Amino acid sequence: MTARTPLIAGNWKMNTTRASAVELARKVSVAAANAKHVDVLVCPPFPYLTPVRDALGTGGVALGAQNVYFEPPGAFTGEVAVEMLLDVGCRYVILGHSERRHVLGENDAVINRKVQASLAKGLDVILCVGELLQERQAGRTEAVLDAQMSGGLSGVSAEALAHVVLAYEPVWAIGTGVTASPEQADSAHAHLRKWLAGRYNPQVAQRMRILYGGSVKPDNAASLLGLPNVDGALVGGASLKADQFVPIIEAAVAVSGTER
Ligand code: PEP
Repeated sequence: MTARTPLIAGNWKMNTTRASAVELARKVSVAAANAKHVDVLVCPPFPYLTPVRDALGTGGVALGAQNVYFEPPGAFTGEVAVEMLLDVGCRYVILGHSERRHVLGENDAVINRKVQASLAKGLDVILCVGELLQERQAGRTEAVLDAQMSGGLSGVSAEALAHVVLAYEPVWAIGTGVTASPEQADSAHAHLRKWLAGRYNPQVAQRMRILYGGSVKPDNAASLLGLPNVDGALVGGASLKADQFVPIIEAAVAVSGTER
């Protein structure tokens, strides 16, 4: 049985109001208090990090941000530094998300600078990788994942990887209602683990948590979370409603004690 503790992470993207964020955080905190052997994380928009942190209280739900800049505090109008995220209680930052790659134009070099700055200063990273539909159709999924892994993790040591979580998020499954089949998800996750074993070592590969992301919902969570190489979920749309996010946490609890 795997020793990897599942992580269920909510990416709220550019959604919620202050009031709805606080209400959602309170509900997630209550549910997570009963979630034995599962880690829970919420990533609200920057302006709501502090009220959400306060609403989460001491229930054990971690706080994360959806982006960060790689420079130390200074003259970078509109950006947010690692130091600031740590200061308001963030433990994680999501980097390499497909919306940052494909809507906001971030490349692997920029993502890598953000990864390096975060790890150097003590912020854990959720590094997202995933292929476009046309890349999958062209049989290039593994090559795309390899390039994103080499680029995003360039210069990152095996020791530092203890503070990295990977998220496999096929772009065609994000916010579309289309989910990767269990076979597609497990095969991509197994490939990422194989890449880690080759680039680093088998222990690093075995320890790494690899989340699946892409239209995870209460009704498909159990089949995805039960896969041997899937160690949790990065959830977008369904993380915005407690009555959808909480059952996903419960599905992770149900599989966490079983043989995977
Ligand atoms: C995401 O944005 O990381 C995501 C997986 O979104 P959704 O669950 O809405 O597909």
